[in-house]
Amino acid sequence: MRVIKASAYRQFQPFADGPYRCRGRAEEGMDSTIVRLETDSGAVGWGEMAPLGAFYSEAFAAGARAGVGELLPKLMGTDPRQLLVVNDFMDRAMFGQPYVKAPIDMACWDLAGQAAGLPLAEFSGGRFGSAAWLYRSISQDTPERMVQTAQKYLRDGYRRLQVKVGDDPLEDVARMKAVRAAVPADVLLVADANGAWRVDAALRFALAMGDADYFLEQPCMSLADNARVRATVRQAMILDESITTMDDLLAAHQAQILNGVTIKLSRVGGMTKARLLRDVAVALGLRVTIEDTGGSDLDTAATTHLMMATPEDSRFHTVDFMNWVTVSNGDGMPAVAGGQIRAPEAPGLGIKVHEAALGAPFFETG
Ligand SMILES: [Mg+2]
Repeated sequence: MRVIKASAYRQFQPFADGPYRCRGRAEEGMDSTIVRLETDSGAVGWGEMAPLGAFYSEAFAAGARAGVGELLPKLMGTDPRQLLVVNDFMDRAMFGQPYVKAPIDMACWDLAGQAAGLPLAEFSGGRFGSAAWLYRSISQDTPERMVQTAQKYLRDGYRRLQVKVGDDPLEDVARMKAVRAAVPADVLLVADANGAWRVDAALRFALAMGDADYFLEQPCMSLADNARVRATVRQAMILDESITTMDDLLAAHQAQILNGVTIKLSRVGGMTKARLLRDVAVALGLRVTIEDTGGSDLDTAATTHLMMATPEDSRFHTVDFMNWVTVSNGDGMPAVAGGQIRAPEAPGLGIKVHEAALGAPFFETG
């Protein structure tokens, strides 16, 4: 099987619940890049990458579009089923830029799974259980409005909430305590600062929260600063933004900071690299979240498949980005129920893409 044609599309995906606020910035939606690979066997594979604006991670939408335009012509003639070979080739052809490679790698996984006749959960190791827990994120706002959002998500069936902090630590304490007091004790809460705090702010927050029950996610950006926070704070700590490579994961584990890791496909370079990080994190006894910076059905299918192929004991939770935005890019994702998500049963990603709705490609080669 050889890739003979590649196209790339742009899809803007507005947020269903209004602007998403984090680190003092706001975005109205995701500017997604969708890759289509066609092979000499007639099989077609799809991949997606959507950054959260340009401020959230080392990625931006125009960069993704330029990057796939640079890489896709070089991939003509390669066998998409040989995932490690494709990744090695991309890493030699382009230094870094993991977010550019992520949608291409995903389209290769889609093709490899279809060729094997297996959904990607089964293809990548096996489906553990039937569904994975989801979390919903509550953007920074007044404590009252954040409580209203939390209650809406509970009504929608979600049982895990991520409260965005990383602002003035005492205002964040008011937000977190208001949400904690408003939701049942069995609703799992995460305080996610997205690396925005300095050490003193993280410590003020954690000390003022006392013995409240919550997980602390990425209080500061650097490993050294998070280690300083960890030395004083006993809350279970999850790292997200600072874990990009295997070195990052092993260094954080060595520093005895980590209880869990959030692996975002576009930050680490796609499903192939995410799977390796996931397998090592599981072997280290960590809790694992597999998600992404954004996207719709294609991206949600990819993260859900990898999440389902993670042993249940090691799973933390994931996201249903397809339900965060007002547009879809394909059919096939099972409906979310009871705050849990299931992966498609059809081979590959299992998504039938709404090709006509994507409009004309911004790039074509082959
Ligand atoms: Mg996070």
